[in-house]
Amino acid sequence: MKLSNLLFNSLKESPKEAKIISHQLMLRSSMIRQHTSGIYTWLPLGFKVLKNIENIIRNNQDEIGCNEMLMSTIQSSELWKKSGRYADYGKEMLRITDRHDSDLLYGPTNEEVITDLFSDYVNSYKGLPKYLYHIQWKFRDEIRPRFGVMRGREFLMKDAYSFDLTEEDAFETYKKFFRSYLKTFLDLGLQPIPVKAATGAIGGDLSHEFQILANTGESELAYDSQLVDSNLSEKSYEEITAMYSASDEMIDKSKSDVIIGRGIEVGHIFNFGTKYTKPLECFVLNQDGKRITPHMGSYGIGVSRLPAAIIEAKYNNEYMKWPKSVTPFQVAIINLGKNGDEADQKSKDIYEVLINNHIDPLLDDTSESPSSKFKISLKLF
Ligand code: ATP
Ligand code: MG
Repeated sequence: MKLSNLLFNSLKESPKEAKIISHQLMLRSSMIRQHTSGIYTWLPLGFKVLKNIENIIRNNQDEIGCNEMLMSTIQSSELWKKSGRYADYGKEMLRITDRHDSDLLYGPTNEEVITDLFSDYVNSYKGLPKYLYHIQWKFRDEIRPRFGVMRGREFLMKDAYSFDLTEEDAFETYKKFFRSYLKTFLDLGLQPIPVKAATGAIGGDLSHEFQILANTGESELAYDSQLVDSNLSEKSYEEITAMYSASDEMIDKSKSDVIIGRGIEVGHIFNFGTKYTKPLECFVLNQDGKRITPHMGSYGIGVSRLPAAIIEAKYNNEYMKWPKSVTPFQVAIINLGKNGDEADQKSKDIYEVLINNHIDPLLDDTSESPSSKFKISLKLF
């Protein structure tokens, strides 16, 4: 990318509405632009980061045999009426009436749609387990959208759904996703803290949130120091959940080795058995030809929250510090030469070599002064 082609407008002052550093830096470096309350446009620089994050998440989901697909953003209300959530979801759901007076909604989550879809394609135990996911925009009419993309109304989520024959199999699947989530966040250069969680509107009785440590996080956390000191990707679910972690009111500060900190929720997984398969009359036939209601789980990651969360966790001295895996550019080339001189030619040559080797560097080819060129590159990534 040549800087002269990049759409950006470097702001010196932080816009007044931006209360936390990630929101300030994302606006100041032209990563995002607010369209209206809680709804953002991802500008070229922000979009590059978002795509990098999406790809790391995608690779990790694919690795555990999860199939990527893409469901629509707009859903029919029929299935939600069957599951009982059309009435329960309340004002966070954006409800739409079309020209035929049909009730539609902008999906806040997809348990109903995926259960209905699964029923059409799998009818035997032989088709289980099945893991499906998509990375799609969601809408939740949050009462107080704030902190930029951290709590938006329209936001990008990776949501996966699992189907298993028995409760035991579903628990094995849950453990698989749990460990895959730890690896995903480690691959993103983050320190994840898994916390046993309440299940809210999704339901069920087993659930974990994945928090990343940041001073500006909305959740207060108490956790075993081992969770950050040991290599989580080598540990089993049992070993990790035996370590202590809790959020908000559940904190027992008296335990030794407990660290108190703040976290940002970047992922949330649920195991909820037959909460949706039962009302939606989804079943498969087992080996004896008997109808069995499959056991489900769902697994979310806040894709568009992550760029902000990464900035909060990593920033240093008003500069964003992107981990290598998500940085918008691996290399900056600051051309300090003038038209046709040796430095100018060298910068262009290096740029070409990197492009030909599938590395996208940022080439500052503008006519700004050297000092402002250095500042801009520092500001952008
Ligand atoms: P929160 O507790 O932050 O409101 P939630 O529990 O309602 O989130 P989930 O249904 O668990 O959210 O959604 C999965 C993930 O999507 C969350 O872990 C979070 O990272 C992200 N997410 C949820 N709501 C928002 C939002 N309004 N803006 C951006 N990301 C969000
Ligand atoms: Mg949650």
